[in-house]
Amino acid sequence: MPERLPIHQIADEIESSLRRGDEARLVVAAPTGSGKSTQLPQIVLDRGLAGDGKIVVLQPRRIAARMLARRIASERHGRVGDEVGYQVRFENHSTRKTRIEFVTDGLLVRRFLRSPGLEDTSVIVFDEFHERGLDSDLALALALKTQSTARPDLKIVVMSATLKTDEIARFLGSADVLETESRAYPVDIHHQPLRAGSQETAWDGATRAFTQQRHALGDEGHALVFMPGVFEIRKTIETLKRSKGTRGLDILPLYGDLPPEQQDAAVEGGARQKIIVATNVAETSLTIDGVRLVIDSGLARIADYDPRREINTLTMQKIARDSADQRAGRAGRTGPGSAVRLWSEADHAKRPAGTLPEIERLDLSELLLFLKASHIGSTGDLQWITPPPRDALEKAHSLLHQLGALDASSTITETGREMAGLPVHPRFARLILAAGDFGCVEEAALAAAFCQGKSLWTRNPGPETRRWRERFFDDDDTSDFQPLLRAWSFARERRFDRDQCESHGIHAMGAREAGKIAKELTRALGSPRNSGTMTDGNALAKSLLLAFSDHLAVRKSNATLSCHVAGGRSGTLEKESVARNGMIFVCAEISEIEGKTLQTNLRLATLIEPDWLHEFYPEDFSREEGAAWEETERRVVRRESTKFRDLVLSSTQRGEPTKEKAAEILAEEVIGGRLKLKGWDAAVEQWIARLNSLAAWMPELELPTIGDDDRRLLVSQVCLGATRYKEIKDRSVFPALKDWLSAPQHATLNAYAPERLSLANGRQVKIIYENDGAPFFRAKLQHLYDVDENPRVADGRVPVVAEILAPNQRPVQKTADLAGFWANSYDAVKSQLRGRYPKHEWR
Ligand code: ADP
Ligand code: MG
Repeated sequence: MPERLPIHQIADEIESSLRRGDEARLVVAAPTGSGKSTQLPQIVLDRGLAGDGKIVVLQPRRIAARMLARRIASERHGRVGDEVGYQVRFENHSTRKTRIEFVTDGLLVRRFLRSPGLEDTSVIVFDEFHERGLDSDLALALALKTQSTARPDLKIVVMSATLKTDEIARFLGSADVLETESRAYPVDIHHQPLRAGSQETAWDGATRAFTQQRHALGDEGHALVFMPGVFEIRKTIETLKRSKGTRGLDILPLYGDLPPEQQDAAVEGGARQKIIVATNVAETSLTIDGVRLVIDSGLARIADYDPRREINTLTMQKIARDSADQRAGRAGRTGPGSAVRLWSEADHAKRPAGTLPEIERLDLSELLLFLKASHIGSTGDLQWITPPPRDALEKAHSLLHQLGALDASSTITETGREMAGLPVHPRFARLILAAGDFGCVEEAALAAAFCQGKSLWTRNPGPETRRWRERFFDDDDTSDFQPLLRAWSFARERRFDRDQCESHGIHAMGAREAGKIAKELTRALGSPRNSGTMTDGNALAKSLLLAFSDHLAVRKSNATLSCHVAGGRSGTLEKESVARNGMIFVCAEISEIEGKTLQTNLRLATLIEPDWLHEFYPEDFSREEGAAWEETERRVVRRESTKFRDLVLSSTQRGEPTKEKAAEILAEEVIGGRLKLKGWDAAVEQWIARLNSLAAWMPELELPTIGDDDRRLLVSQVCLGATRYKEIKDRSVFPALKDWLSAPQHATLNAYAPERLSLANGRQVKIIYENDGAPFFRAKLQHLYDVDENPRVADGRVPVVAEILAPNQRPVQKTADLAGFWANSYDAVKSQLRGRYPKHEWR
């Protein structure tokens, strides 16, 4: 046992809480290094709180599971795999004897699938719960469900260094909360942003910061550098080693894929001072004693949803402010320390305070498939600390349905069950399963890897490299994955040699990584049902179709790369794609590029035979009868289209359309302004304006007005019985208008909104009605003599405006107040015009 740690001071409380009886729930909050991960499981075991059962400790990270198991085993003078063990994906070091078992949360979730009662387990400890990974939220929900049904004796402990205890305690209901005193020393924080002008890298910046701050280490302190990934860690170590300022110090990496001895070397104490360059495992999961200086790149690889590929991936991101504080805090555990942040204070202020839980950010199809495959069945039957967002769930449902994992009633299918057994995203599970059937597992696994990892092609190759790269392409290719597969084989044959790869336009690291991902995928499948080595081109294409049928696309014509895409979308096929040689394809990537307009690009395409759609999805076809305007013949044709889900695959012209349909489509063309009805002239518009005006002036008449929809109706009435433009071009519109009003309504219209009226001097004038505005008439000045007032319509309610014209017909004035005109303006008008038109009458 190490010297007493803070957690030992609350050992009695832990014991009494866990002995309280059924449905024991305990929350433990204590700062990093308090002994939560290494000591609490031992306290539980040694005080007999687990009975004969196992203590399962959940860790979000594999490296933490491995290292903590090793540490406890060595504290207890045992070996990993005996009393203390661990299990992570593809690695099992736990046996029947194992009492304390570290597992990753995804693994526990899968255990629930196999044995929902979790009979061999007495205590589940959720470590690092503040990280709020999707699997740990799900595992907690499952554990709570199990505890409240089959296993009231199951004990649940939730631990974290940074947990907001009241939130989680409230969620857990009856939980006890234990907190240790948190003692931390002050940490000086310096912001030293990378030099933007000189394009300083994170490793150069870290080395510079280290030499400046080395004094913070004192005689025995260590330094801890946070980098986002393995590549950056290697670069940092190289750069630090070259620097004079690091003489006399051990420089050690710390990340998941290191051999165990190297992991231990970084964490365990020793006489020499060291610089540890780590990923965010050292943020709270693993404790390194004696750190006095922290240098933080401010970056991490974080799981996030990638809308382009519609999967969850690790992306490099700026860490949130709470993570940065945790990282800095690592320098103040054993004494006062310093932290250097390689970003500006302004950048810091703009960062989010914390990261959202994964359940609010990630794709949920894997989670949903899991629940469907389990005895739980749906998300609604669980108690969630953060409920899964409805949109994301709906999307997941629809994807699982299209992948054939759920049937029409949303029940899991046999295929769905097999998919749930594979620890990969359902889309890739479907791909690999299909490939197992068709005998192309290796290619499919690589294709899946190309979808998930970095691009295999180097960017902006020179002309010579481009020529080399072209050798991977074949004129007969039907899938963009074919050249990629050839390039990958080429790279592997050359053992991913960087120079040889790059001279052929291949990303050596990307290729190596793809190989690794592919291997994991094939391993996940176990022994495929039918792993033939002989494959034809169609095997892979058919597998891809089964995995990407929701990404089916049909080109609008063979003259364009523009496509209709399943789901009511449209997009443009990448111009380099081999799918330009055909019409129907599935694509692995749909990316929206924000430019002047939003553009959707379709990438990694594979041509599809329509027959395959019939073969795999006979029920997803429908026929639709319709009609369409045929521009060259200037007529409406009947069209029969074949649809796959919501996508029109093909359509043929056949026979004559129905009368109603033809009229409707002709009307659309007229309304849209593409065809002209000669009969729809100014007189028609006047009639409509009269009617609408009168209806507005005298609402009590309850006249039926003519709005946009009614115009459509009127136009289609005019078009009725016709299929060709020449039949409607000269048709009269008035018959349709006549039918609009009853005979009494016609009479009312003529009475209150007459087309013409007589002025006080007996002259007839034509009234012009306007859709929005007063009605008016035009008259020469001489014709208005003896007309003292404006005439009125609408039963005297509305004066008709007079547009007064000079003898040359030019308007002189527009007025609704003729009396005022005679009294005030007439004399001036007269003296102006009289000289020019002396022969006219001037009173
Ligand atoms: P917590 O989980 O509360 O952060 P841990 O249980 O991981 O704390 O660590 C408690 C203490 O045990 C640390 O402060 C450290 O001194 C020691 N320790 C843990 N793991 C190791 C290890 N692999 N090598 C050396 N010391 C370790
Ligand atoms: Mg811990």
